[in-house]
Amino acid sequence: MNLADPQAAAGLRTPIRHQLFIDGRFVDAESGETLATLNPHDNSTIAEVALAGRADVDKAVAAAERAFPAWSRMAAADRGRILLRLADLIDANTEELARLESLDTGHPLHDSRMLDVPRTAGCFRYFGGMADKFQGDVIPVEAGFLNYLLREPVGIVGQIVPWNFPLMFTSWKMAPALAAGNCVVMKPAEITPLSSLKIAELMSEAGLPDGVVNIVPGLGSVAGQYIAEHERIAKIAFTGSTATGRRIVQASAGNLKKVQLELGGKGANIVFDDANLAAAVNGSAWAIFHNQGQACIAGSRLLLHEKIADEFLDRFIALAGSIRLGNPLDAATEMGPLTSAQHRDRVLSYVAVAREEGGELLAGGKAPAASELARGCYVEPTIVRVKSERDRVAQEEVFGPFVTVLSFRDEAEALRIANGTDYGLGSGLWTRDLQRAHRFARDLHAGMVWINSYKRVNPGSPFGGVGRSGYGREMGFEAMREYTQVKSVWVNVDAQIPPWYPR
Ligand code: NAP
Ligand code: MG
Repeated sequence: MNLADPQAAAGLRTPIRHQLFIDGRFVDAESGETLATLNPHDNSTIAEVALAGRADVDKAVAAAERAFPAWSRMAAADRGRILLRLADLIDANTEELARLESLDTGHPLHDSRMLDVPRTAGCFRYFGGMADKFQGDVIPVEAGFLNYLLREPVGIVGQIVPWNFPLMFTSWKMAPALAAGNCVVMKPAEITPLSSLKIAELMSEAGLPDGVVNIVPGLGSVAGQYIAEHERIAKIAFTGSTATGRRIVQASAGNLKKVQLELGGKGANIVFDDANLAAAVNGSAWAIFHNQGQACIAGSRLLLHEKIADEFLDRFIALAGSIRLGNPLDAATEMGPLTSAQHRDRVLSYVAVAREEGGELLAGGKAPAASELARGCYVEPTIVRVKSERDRVAQEEVFGPFVTVLSFRDEAEALRIANGTDYGLGSGLWTRDLQRAHRFARDLHAGMVWINSYKRVNPGSPFGGVGRSGYGREMGFEAMREYTQVKSVWVNVDAQIPPWYPR
């Protein structure tokens, strides 16, 4: 197969990076193994990407260790300047990065241009500015002593990124880690390694010293597992499924790694009868259908007040049916394919589960009929009215364009259903009642709550969940705390300490 074609076909100006990035250089895996990364639009091969094994992870850790002393002691403002330069380079390469991300993941080009790339640049820019503003403390202790707190980097940080937002999550993970002075060994998802490798190239251009960031595409069960176990990696930050999160916690026990987990969700999206219906319909569609529903914070459980349920659904179903599915590289496309055939099959298997559970399919539930999409991983926007909030499809994370619908009578019922899962990532509600809005913000079991909107994120605003959705926070000052540890320093300035053993 001619692997040069995908680059030209996708309108990419620069070569697709397909090797590991270790110690500032692109290198093959020690084993010489590779894995094909596919275009989910037609399942054609984009590139054969080097597949890291344990020896490669060891090389990456060694490179990070060599880089750490200088990087961690560099003036914070200088680290920040490199991240700011990187942000500018990302902006300057928007089209290239957007096309690459769309090619590898299936994100519509419009989304990649308007969201993924600007948010990636924005995250590096925010933490570039943060680097020299995150400071320690002085504690008022007993007279004669100065007690101050140093916020030191944790050391070598392992980061494991999933396939749903590979470019954006590269920045969410790396930007605060680097701003705080850590060195990084990062494993992208095996099916979507390309955009993070491109970022590595831009990092070198921005002046990032060799070894500060190492990227090791590989299998979760091999490279990922080894990173989680690694004795010389001090912290692991993971985004992905709850099941893998558990495995990471177990693997991290050997050297008692600091662990940060961003896991799944089953976001409740509650629409009250006083809501602005037009805004709620559109916002709720975006909440579930953006990125083909492959988002941990997707609003995947729609709870509708019984008074507006019928009208809402009429409009919601019509809107879902009008979403333009197509090749992600076509700028008019509003919904692309799911990111892998395996995942498409998993999502469609939930349609079967819904039927078995007596759910009523209100829209979608199958691959689109259009012949030009037949070889891709497409699923139509799918809406299921479930019988019970306890049904599997209303409890388990489907991670696709698949939304369950239930109606409720009153606030108490809405809250009970909303809080009735093990997850607790994001939740939202649509209402004009100010007190109700804040009551729900208080009472929802979630790390994030959106009122009259959904899925808002910003590099300044802490992102993360409770319960089975994980622990720790990305973004904002919270992320800087996650990527540092406190050292308390005691100085005897002029304390008069009577001798404990008078002699
Ligand atoms: P996953 O297994 O959690 O994968 C996420 C990342 O973890 C990937 O880089 C993966 O590598 C890696 N990984 C897998 N096993 C590992 C291990 N034992 N040790 C260390 N790292 C490991 O998720 P998935 O299987 O791709 O997707 C399954 C479901 O997870 C989805 O349907 C969705 O419900 C959920 N999910 C949630 C998010 C989120 O944003 N919270 C993101 C992705 C998936 P490989 O690429 O080699 O598997
Ligand atoms: Mg791919």
